[in-house]
Amino acid sequence: MKGDRFQDECGVVGVFGHPEAANLAYLGLYALQHRGQEGAGIVSSDGQLLMSHRGLGLVADVFDRDVLRRLVGDAAIGHNRYSTAGQTLLKNTQPFVVEFGGGGLAVSHNGNIVNALELREQLEARGSIFHSSVDTEVIIHLMAAAVGKNLVDRASEALASVRGAYSLLFLDRDQMIAARDPNGFRPLVLGKIKDAVVITSETCALDLIGAEYVREVEPGEVIVATRSGMRSFYPFPESKPTRCVFEYVYFSRPDSTVFGRSVYQVRKVLGRRLARESPVEADLVIPVPDSGVPAALGYSEESKLDFDFGLIRNHYVGRTFIEPQDEIRHFGVKVKLNAQRQVLEGKRVVVVDDSLVRGTTSRKIVAMLRQGGAVEVHMRISSPPTIGPCFYGVDTPTREELVASSHSVEQIREYIGADSLAFLSEEGLYDFLPKPSSEGYCDACFSGRYPVRVSDDGRSRQLVLFEVKGR
Ligand code: AMP
Repeated sequence: MKGDRFQDECGVVGVFGHPEAANLAYLGLYALQHRGQEGAGIVSSDGQLLMSHRGLGLVADVFDRDVLRRLVGDAAIGHNRYSTAGQTLLKNTQPFVVEFGGGGLAVSHNGNIVNALELREQLEARGSIFHSSVDTEVIIHLMAAAVGKNLVDRASEALASVRGAYSLLFLDRDQMIAARDPNGFRPLVLGKIKDAVVITSETCALDLIGAEYVREVEPGEVIVATRSGMRSFYPFPESKPTRCVFEYVYFSRPDSTVFGRSVYQVRKVLGRRLARESPVEADLVIPVPDSGVPAALGYSEESKLDFDFGLIRNHYVGRTFIEPQDEIRHFGVKVKLNAQRQVLEGKRVVVVDDSLVRGTTSRKIVAMLRQGGAVEVHMRISSPPTIGPCFYGVDTPTREELVASSHSVEQIREYIGADSLAFLSEEGLYDFLPKPSSEGYCDACFSGRYPVRVSDDGRSRQLVLFEVKGR
């Protein structure tokens, strides 16, 4: 157990001004299931009351027809929470709902606040009592202590003392507020269905509910949707955007447009570049499905080597990465992937994956491919070595667990048992950008350069209360 961790990569969706708001939020959460599988929730508003439902598990498990029928109103926000190695607690599931200024307030947050613990200690010293261990609650306490006369002012005031990553949605009975941190670490997009406003993490959610993509919610932007219209402003000091490059590498769905670019296209370009940087004589390019598929296609196109599926994925298991024990993780890869002898027999294969973190997945895959008949296995990774943990919302292991933080490429090759191993270069990572570019990305996991100072520095709160779950 890594402690009760603050960091969460999550999915958020909000719909304002639509008679089927909760149903649309529900479908949006379905599209964003890859961003979080630990729990889900929706809060709706009918202009008078807030209605809330949250639960542990996948979206399909949390909601049913009866629950959705009771989430009435023309506004709703939803949240998918990422599964981490820590506890699965219902009280940490979002949207949070609190009584606030004579009404209800709901909050959905994607990202990680890097001074949450510091702020929490200050707030506790002044008498705040926290209900959960999630950093989002800090924002609510800051809002309660703020002097602004309305919700928007208080939210802006609270967020001004928060550092790190937040793509946030607030909902009270009259309005939905979206806020994105000035660095724009995590994605957030604006869409519309006729006059209804939709704000969500990725465009794949807009596609599913038939919403038109309007634009990104800009870094540092606050959007307020009310029943009399929408307005936008920039209350925070300007900062150079540092959008998360790992959203392109792994996290987002390939059919989404993230930070203004198709994730699928970016991944293909990374694969092409990888083929130019690290060619190898082989018979076949195969992906590690699903996340390695677009990069493997790019590699195959560029290298003119055949593409095929040498590994088949069972789609009914979750992401194995999250298993806390090494032994279980080894087993997990087998649960998820199986080698196809008819494709691999006697072949020299290039196997492409999007990232290498601990190296345990690659090690298992290489062994599996050899057992499946491959005579040579060349591992190609369409991102640079992961050397630093993420403090801005992606669940990565500690630095000690990141194999590339303490081992050379050759040592890793030996560990995973491949005939050769190559990573994409740091320059190669930005091949997708038209140059020169003023856009900025956070690549702290690859470069070790952290754009926003982390004062909690991975410190996590000691867990003091366990929830005992009944059946
Ligand atoms: P590892 O065995 O730790 O090297 O895991 C590498 C695999 O985990 C790759 O196939 C990636 O697609 C996947 N992966 C990388 N980062 C994450 C993450 N934050 N959450 C879940 N899976 C990940």
